[in-house]
Amino acid sequence: MASGSVQREIPSIDRLLASDAGKSLIEQAGRDLAVAMYRDVSGDLRARLQRKPDDKPADIESWLHEQASVSIQTLLTPSLKAVLNLTGTVLHTNLGRAPLPESCIEAVVSVSRGASNLEFDLHKGSRGDRDDHIEDWLCRLTGAEAATVVNNNAAAVLLTLNSLASRRSVAVSRGELIEIGGSFRMPDIMKRAGCKLVEVGTTNRTHLKDYAEAVDEGVVAVMRVHTSNYKVEGFTSEVPDTELGKLAKDNDIIFINDLGSGALVDMTRFGLPTEATPAEALAEGADVVTFSGDKLLGGPQCGLIVGTRKSIERIRKNPMKRALRCDKMTLAALEAIFHLYADPHRLAETVPSLRILGRSADDIQELAQALQGQVQSALASCAEVSVESCNSQIGSGALPVDRLPSWALVLHPLASSGIKVAQLAAKFRELKVPVIGRIRDDALWFDLRCLEDADAFVSNLSTLKANAEC
Ligand SMILES: *Cc1c(COP(=O)(O)O)cnc(C)c1O
Repeated sequence: MASGSVQREIPSIDRLLASDAGKSLIEQAGRDLAVAMYRDVSGDLRARLQRKPDDKPADIESWLHEQASVSIQTLLTPSLKAVLNLTGTVLHTNLGRAPLPESCIEAVVSVSRGASNLEFDLHKGSRGDRDDHIEDWLCRLTGAEAATVVNNNAAAVLLTLNSLASRRSVAVSRGELIEIGGSFRMPDIMKRAGCKLVEVGTTNRTHLKDYAEAVDEGVVAVMRVHTSNYKVEGFTSEVPDTELGKLAKDNDIIFINDLGSGALVDMTRFGLPTEATPAEALAEGADVVTFSGDKLLGGPQCGLIVGTRKSIERIRKNPMKRALRCDKMTLAALEAIFHLYADPHRLAETVPSLRILGRSADDIQELAQALQGQVQSALASCAEVSVESCNSQIGSGALPVDRLPSWALVLHPLASSGIKVAQLAAKFRELKVPVIGRIRDDALWFDLRCLEDADAFVSNLSTLKANAEC
């Protein structure tokens, strides 16, 4: 058949829309999307027939309906969705970091449904400041005189530097010039903030006299950066916060401390190693401390800035603050988590990330043993499932070298099935709730530390069973 006559067999968009299948697509997705999808799939078919006139679907019209319907399903399936993080990294930046407490979620829902007093003082009946909802809490929890909040900690660092040291020099130890994932590099941030970086000391050793020399050369601030994702070990030396604080005070310059993970309470409560708190950093002389809301704090993504009233006022007045500010949903979640921090003794239950980080290895082992059989039967002859000990990490650069003893379900692909470990991992990513593990030693490891709802995990597996054709 000549290709032109095959082309003529492709029905018009109007005809497709007028059919029963077309009407049902319009009902489902609206007329505009239905038209767009029919145009796309008809265009694809036309191009295909141009290349291969014989490669023709048996029933062109129903084929077009089916393709359009599949495209619409795909388009209307959320791209951003919940997954199960069984990677063993609790605060996983690529997987959204901290899971929020229920009260934070409720607060988000409640302010997002309608109007709120985001920047309105209900008492005075006049304009308010969005910081008002969280500033007192931050001061109460850290001992700071004043506080503000922006979109994330990278923004907090950028804004702090730009507000306090734009067109001036800032001293940072060579041992603290960090790069964090996603191209956050201290020297670049300094540049973008309009500051001149003065590197002091060496990679492994920096002394007070190194900072003192920089002060003599006219730096307006010294900055400490938490070495979040690595540790310098061996022949090392760094200047304690108290000494940097004293140097700054004596010379009337500013001491900025970027804590990164910023645990608000003593982490040893949860069986975790100690991590400096903003309260300690301030007590040890920092004028400004910056930290993340969604790392060890366990709340929403944001960057918290606490410090002296004078510094915070300068930061607040910077026009960039407006560009970096948080939205009402973040502020609602943040205020709600501060209410939980009012009772530190219950945090191990009320804040999911702390609950997960503090979970005992015995508890996780018990869960792994309880689930082993069900996972094995869902996998049939694809893989053999064993229960093995492993180490979780905190993630997000918090306490980089510390590991938490944990237990995993380990899926070893069976050679007889022909399935490769990467294919097995892909199968789990295709589940209704995608399950993300870690591949190690040719096996798929599911660290169960972050698995709290075992029933949901098991029922989610039923979709795997249906398509495990290995
Ligand atoms: C994580 C981190 C940042 C960046 O914080 P985000 O919340 O990811 O923007 C900055 N500094 C340090 C030391 C960090 O650990």
